[in-house]
Amino acid sequence: MDIISKKAILRELLAEYRARKDRVEAEADRVRLRIAEAVPVYADMSGAITKILMDASRRALDDPPNAARIAAEAKAQVLCLRADSEAALRAAGYSPDMLEPKYGCPICKDTGFVGTPIHEYCSCIKVALMRRLYQEANIGDETFENFDLEVFSDAPEEGAGRSQRQVMEVYRTYCVDFANAYPKAKKRNLLLTGPTGLGKTYMLNCIAARVLERGIPVLRLTAYKMLEAMRRYHRGQDESGLDLMLRAEMLVIDDLGTEPMLENVTVEYLFTLLNERRANRLSTLVATNLTPQELKARYTERIFSRLVDKSETEVLRFIGGDVRLHRGAR
Ligand SMILES: [Zn+2]
Repeated sequence: MDIISKKAILRELLAEYRARKDRVEAEADRVRLRIAEAVPVYADMSGAITKILMDASRRALDDPPNAARIAAEAKAQVLCLRADSEAALRAAGYSPDMLEPKYGCPICKDTGFVGTPIHEYCSCIKVALMRRLYQEANIGDETFENFDLEVFSDAPEEGAGRSQRQVMEVYRTYCVDFANAYPKAKKRNLLLTGPTGLGKTYMLNCIAARVLERGIPVLRLTAYKMLEAMRRYHRGQDESGLDLMLRAEMLVIDDLGTEPMLENVTVEYLFTLLNERRANRLSTLVATNLTPQELKARYTERIFSRLVDKSETEVLRFIGGDVRLHRGAR
């Protein structure tokens, strides 16, 4: 169980980029040496090119008024020599691009950055970062961008006066705004209720994806995993899990109510967790299949009142039919 942080993943990625850059450049050096041995005339010309460039820069430094002319002359000579050396390579059966490092990204040459003088992240690393964030968070492609309202029925729901699709559209808008505004959203916490298969997990993943994109760390786990961490803490085996849950800037608990009820653990630690997070003004997102009555019966009144406290929590009640049955949404 880990808090997923954009910063940590970016650090990891940049280290991987550096390693890959070193590797492909070392490989290019090896190829260059091999070719220099196999085609001595190429090696001679490469040496000559280096010498011309060094001489020219020294002369330009000594003679600033003529620096531009010196550079232009050197450049012309180098171009000629380079064409000759490439012809020599080809004649020996090699191609000049064998000498180039095989970068994973030719745009940033595996530095992860583009642009001068202002460095910006290359698009390759932005894509890699998002992919890794979602992968680590187990989000897959469950993002607002992929959120498809069409999977929800547009038939009016009995008693609700609205269709499942209309409700989901309202919730999607609410959750997009919530994730974009976080941590300045009107309500700090969300409680998603309703039977299984109505898209609660999907919605949580979309929010987590957006919040992660914005660089805010998220800890996302099932209630089962949450309880495991509590149990380990209670037995004195491991404090780190509960500690992470207490500290995470955003904590997302999926499937509350599916975890076992352990005496002295489930209710007691859940209360502590919710209470501590509330005292520290940290955001907690919960999804549950339980009805409000079931929540109250299972977790006691004091936890229930924390979970649904209107001053800090927006309760989204999901309605309608199971969308997992068609089109693979969940
Ligand atoms: Zn790149």
